[in-house]
Amino acid sequence: MSLSVQEFRQQFSDKLMTTFGKKVEKATPFEAFQTVGLILRELLNRKWQDTKGTYRSNSQKQVYYFSMEFLLGRLMITNLLNSGLLETCKQGLEELGFNLEEVLGQEQDPGLGNGDLGRLAACFLDSLASLELPGHGCGIRYKYGLFQQKIVDGNQVELPDYWLKNEYVWETKRLDQTVEVHFGGEIETVEESGRLTFKHHHYEKVLAVPYDIPVSGYQNHTVNTLRLWSAESTTNDFHFYSIDRKDYYHYLDYKRSVEQISEFLYPDDSSYEGRLLRLKQQYFLVSAGLQCILREFKNSYPSVDLLPEKIAIQINDTHPSLVIPELMRLLLDQEQLSWEKAWELTTRTVAYTNHTTMSEALETWPVDMVKTLLPRIYMIIHEINERFCRHLWLAHPTLRDEIKHMAIISYGQIHMAHLAIVGSYSVNGVAKLHTDILKNSVMKPFYTVFPEKFNNKTNGITHRRWLLMANPPLASLITEAIGETWVREPKQLITLLKYAGDAAFQEKIAGVKQANKTALAKYIQERTGIRVDDRSIFDVHIKRLHGYKRQLLNVFHILHLYEMIRDNPNMDMVPRTFIFGAKAAPGYHFAKKVIKLITTTAAKIAADPIVREKIRVVFLENYNVSLAEQIIPATDVSEQISTASKEASGTGNMKFMLNGAITIGTLDGANVEIREMVGPDNIFTFGLTAEDVLAYQLSRMYRSRDVYNGDQRIRRVMDQLVNGSLSNDDVEFKDIYYTLLSNNDEYFVLKDFDSYVEAQDLLEQAYRQPTEWLKKSITNIAHSGKFSSDRTISEYASEIWDIHPVTISSTTQSR
Ligand SMILES: *Cc1c(COP(=O)(O)O)cnc(C)c1O
Repeated sequence: MSLSVQEFRQQFSDKLMTTFGKKVEKATPFEAFQTVGLILRELLNRKWQDTKGTYRSNSQKQVYYFSMEFLLGRLMITNLLNSGLLETCKQGLEELGFNLEEVLGQEQDPGLGNGDLGRLAACFLDSLASLELPGHGCGIRYKYGLFQQKIVDGNQVELPDYWLKNEYVWETKRLDQTVEVHFGGEIETVEESGRLTFKHHHYEKVLAVPYDIPVSGYQNHTVNTLRLWSAESTTNDFHFYSIDRKDYYHYLDYKRSVEQISEFLYPDDSSYEGRLLRLKQQYFLVSAGLQCILREFKNSYPSVDLLPEKIAIQINDTHPSLVIPELMRLLLDQEQLSWEKAWELTTRTVAYTNHTTMSEALETWPVDMVKTLLPRIYMIIHEINERFCRHLWLAHPTLRDEIKHMAIISYGQIHMAHLAIVGSYSVNGVAKLHTDILKNSVMKPFYTVFPEKFNNKTNGITHRRWLLMANPPLASLITEAIGETWVREPKQLITLLKYAGDAAFQEKIAGVKQANKTALAKYIQERTGIRVDDRSIFDVHIKRLHGYKRQLLNVFHILHLYEMIRDNPNMDMVPRTFIFGAKAAPGYHFAKKVIKLITTTAAKIAADPIVREKIRVVFLENYNVSLAEQIIPATDVSEQISTASKEASGTGNMKFMLNGAITIGTLDGANVEIREMVGPDNIFTFGLTAEDVLAYQLSRMYRSRDVYNGDQRIRRVMDQLVNGSLSNDDVEFKDIYYTLLSNNDEYFVLKDFDSYVEAQDLLEQAYRQPTEWLKKSITNIAHSGKFSSDRTISEYASEIWDIHPVTISSTTQSR
């Protein structure tokens, strides 16, 4: 489906005229963006039809990926690259007087996610379509994304992120696919011809309206679907003319309560308000998604018995785990199956991905809340729990003492991870270490009962977005060296190894990195007014702000360097620029204080003429996918310093590696596998191991105060928090101080400080040897093929879902 530049220009001016009633000379960059969007939509729509048609006529098994978050990033660049129109469009726009970069920059990032888990979902959709696999996303169309972060006086301020203000060119509203979701009310149990039936009365009715986004594959004919649900009120039950004003106000209250359901994304691991609303969102997603899948299924197949043969449902963490009781409800109450049959079908259809082992992040819901909001679902969960506990009692006598820890309902709470494990046929962790911890520690009793369910699928990232699109000069350089097969088979990057020590290639790699750093420095200056030295080491820490991700450890290293430089202004060191980007969950007080500490440290250094010659700190606000795409290609050092055992996998680590940055990190998550691939010489690891951390947690032998007392450097750094040298307000950083001392430093910041500083020293020495450093850099790129989400998705496809690639045949008329 190729388009000449001439044809592109023609279509552009026609579309512009029919849509905006404008001539090319008068069009704004935003109108140009919309116009290109519409041209692409037309191409995509045809392929979309073909894809749906092929899946239907082949009776393909399909997978649905349920996730509360999809952190997509901009889609125009993806769609241009995938359809092979990037060059045509670039040239066409130029001839028409537009700049491609500027036009692409008009697109709003849909901020429908919070971090790793949401971005993973987006990478997976990209890989599914690119590998010609029948797999779709199912999520919520939040009217406002997470939030837009502004830094005001060094503090995070949250503004609503109204990403839909200019209408979203990629979505199509599918009113005809609307379904109803019911909340509240009571259940009446009646016996009808020998069978118990459950009648739901007095419920609140919510309309779920789907908006579909096409997900295109890389230069193929596949277009899968991301279906996002929006909550709308129904007016059918209100008779405005016949009733009085009071009822009208009731209607307004109802409308408000319904619309809230798809308004904001609540980050999952903060102390947030509106837990009830979050639960409502989860059920809304699950019920709407399943009803729709089942309806379509019944149109195509004679019996629901075939469900596990034709459909797989993957749940991204426990947030959509109500899929299990909801599917049971539909099979029992709507399809009239027996409990046993319904349970068999459900547990052969649903698969669960675990993303955390931290107990405070494992979801639970109060029984009373679920009972009130979802009375029938509660009954079903209760029954699942009864049967599961009975099974444990009878079939696993050795586990009888464990039943209270394994029950789905205990101490007034519903444990969603337990529900997810019991009700699915596959439970996967997201990196080897993480899966081992699940099996041997956190979920050990479940592993004993269901060993066959547990498996590992190490995360991955789409190398198309994170290299091809984010870093075109590096991508070209690689292709120049080893040909272009790596684009379709990222494992081929390994052939770069033979150039790791090649002086000419190294020089080119260095040139690309330098150009990217210069571009980032320019961007930083435009955004913040800060001038950074583009010859300094770019040391980058970008990710959600969280205690376990230990941005604080990084700051402590910086404050330590500050003291060293003050002591010895002529200290011989390679200048460094520390770059941070992070959003803190709105209710997470500690995380917000760490942001304040970073910005305060940045200001203090900027004001110090001696120190600022050697180090600089920059905090870039509103970290999101587009910002990550700017920063990562320009990074020398990738900070992956979570407390070992806490980061399930991480995917940021993979993006950096792919772009030739060197990791400094703990042996946590996928860092372990990165180290396995590149070898210990090409990564800087330090600190406690996961085993150490778990042992400390059991023995309670860690005393942060002893570390504090025993290390003068730590005392000097910590004292800066409270002695007025950072802030006139001497309580500003007291909470951080006490978290580390009185609360015994849950994340082992002080414990790992010494080895972190040592690793940073070694890293600096390595940086001073350019040929050695570049060799490390190239070695990292060469081994990054394993971390393509294409590899991850192929594993899910063959080992969990049993789905197969299908080449889409063109049935509709195209050119
Ligand atoms: C990749 C990515 C993440 C995940 O980063 P980690 O370092 O793995 O925590 C979060 N947010 C955005 C915008 C990303 O692109």
